[in-house]
Amino acid sequence: MAHDHADRLARAGDEAKRAELDALIVTPSADLVYLTGYAPPPLERLTALVLRPGNDPVLVVPELERPRAAMSTAGKLVQIEIWSDGEDPYEAVAALLSADGTYGVTDSMWAVHLLGLQSGMSGAGFVPASPVLSRLRQRKDEGEIHLLSRAARSADETFRQVTRDGLEGKTEAKIARALASTLVETGHDEALFWIVGSGPNGASPHHDSGVREIRAGDPVVLDFGGRLQGYCSDVTRTISVGEPSDEVKEIHEIVRQAQEAAFQAAQPSVPAQEVDRAAREVIAEAGYGRAFIHRTGHGIGLDEHEPPYMIEGNGEPLEPGMCFSIEPGIYLDGRFGVRIEDIVTVTPEGPVRLNRAPRDLLVIG
Ligand code: ZN
Ligand code: ZN
Ligand code: ZN
Repeated sequence: MAHDHADRLARAGDEAKRAELDALIVTPSADLVYLTGYAPPPLERLTALVLRPGNDPVLVVPELERPRAAMSTAGKLVQIEIWSDGEDPYEAVAALLSADGTYGVTDSMWAVHLLGLQSGMSGAGFVPASPVLSRLRQRKDEGEIHLLSRAARSADETFRQVTRDGLEGKTEAKIARALASTLVETGHDEALFWIVGSGPNGASPHHDSGVREIRAGDPVVLDFGGRLQGYCSDVTRTISVGEPSDEVKEIHEIVRQAQEAAFQAAQPSVPAQEVDRAAREVIAEAGYGRAFIHRTGHGIGLDEHEPPYMIEGNGEPLEPGMCFSIEPGIYLDGRFGVRIEDIVTVTPEGPVRLNRAPRDLLVIG
């Protein structure tokens, strides 16, 4: 499905103007992919899209990358200007801008590039571009939601296949490798991360899968995702290998209810923080408030983590098209952890889950 980059560039210009920015300076990142479809890696040689409201966008590229840029979708959308090795790329950008303007720059722009721009434009101000660009990026269009749904279904199928044959006796690392390869076999272009936290390791939300062998009675947190045609997946299920203890069953049920409460709260016009509060209330009432040690969710799209964030303090209202995770958890240090995560999209009629993998406690061998 083709994305309408020309429309995105035009709207980004409008948003920059509304934010009283003289230009956006976008370096290789999801921002650049979103606006132009061009996806070069970030490098020490500067590539930068200069988007000035009311002017044609200009892509400043190193001379040796001109062919690649020209052949990309960006080649038909923007004017390409080159700088050659030995020249100062920051001067090439500054030549397009006024020395005392205010500019929004890609959040993940390398420091060396921002410092280069700053030293040549000492009267200019630089601010993060995310408040402007996230206004566009966080409201997904139909084509983007379609790709996020496909990625979610592939992640669900990965969960089904990897747990089908049982996990007992396998190491976390072996299961992690199976998650990564199955993500690709079921439709992803690449796997991005694969967390397997068994037994006490599940109490560390971002545990690095290791040599621990899964034993009967272990709860296991599986959290994994990848990228499909640019768009990310991210799903978590906590399963029980062998009969779960009463405590594991109880904690899992609390997290399941917290996840459901947060899901029901994700209605259009509701402030994002209400989603976090809904999950936290269930967990706090059950007496585990201090064991829920992270926010409830993050936006997802071209980046695995992007706005909007489901976190206390984010009063931004949810809007149709927003896509984000809902992933409450309870972590009992040294013992085990439980997390359940789905990607959800907001529609005018209410929230819809993109992940369909069962959320009840799955007991396998
Ligand atoms: Zn995470
Ligand atoms: Zn996750
Ligand atoms: Zn997540």
